[in-house]
Amino acid sequence: MRFDSLQETLTRAGFSVHTFPTGQAAKDWLAAQWSGKTIGLGGSMTLEDLGLYEALSQGNTVYWHWRTPGAATLAQAAQAQVYLSSVNAVAETGELINIDGTGNRISAATGAHEVVCYLVGRNKVAPTFDQALWRARNVAAPLNARRLHRKTPCAQGEALRCYDCKSPERICNGLSVLWRPLGGAGETMVLLVDEDLGY
Ligand code: SF4
Repeated sequence: MRFDSLQETLTRAGFSVHTFPTGQAAKDWLAAQWSGKTIGLGGSMTLEDLGLYEALSQGNTVYWHWRTPGAATLAQAAQAQVYLSSVNAVAETGELINIDGTGNRISAATGAHEVVCYLVGRNKVAPTFDQALWRARNVAAPLNARRLHRKTPCAQGEALRCYDCKSPERICNGLSVLWRPLGGAGETMVLLVDEDLGY
């Protein structure tokens, strides 16, 4: 996949953009970036599949509620020097989209970190904002609901789509759209990877 146009759009918006042919290459690059830092991770199958927690823990202190569940870990991740996450979708027009249940991923990414970094596989790229939002709602969120075995129509119905449910187990409670980097971070990176990663 050619990222030239998306890279140019995101760079013009103020993001630091890097491209990689594989997730492994992105992981190796990330592992070489920091030493002795505190690093928070948002919930993400991309980070899980790449083994980012283990790789970054070699030389840093990494806080991830997928390894150490609890409010204390979420708070430490939110205050870490570096915060890593993925997105549910990115539009070729430049918008980064995330849907959140508890809000930790959205709120932590707005914090005063030295670096906020979004790791994005090619499967998350959609041509327009509307199509990216559609993807986040009808692909990423239902797949996450299925992973979590939620009692929601998107997890229990046959069709993979959002039903805009009123279920108490609904995982879609907040929506974040970034047009440009938020002011709290010293630098906001977007790593575009030419492989399918996560949902
Ligand atoms: S709003 Fe409900 S049905 Fe739609 S994706 Fe979220 S949990 Fe599933």
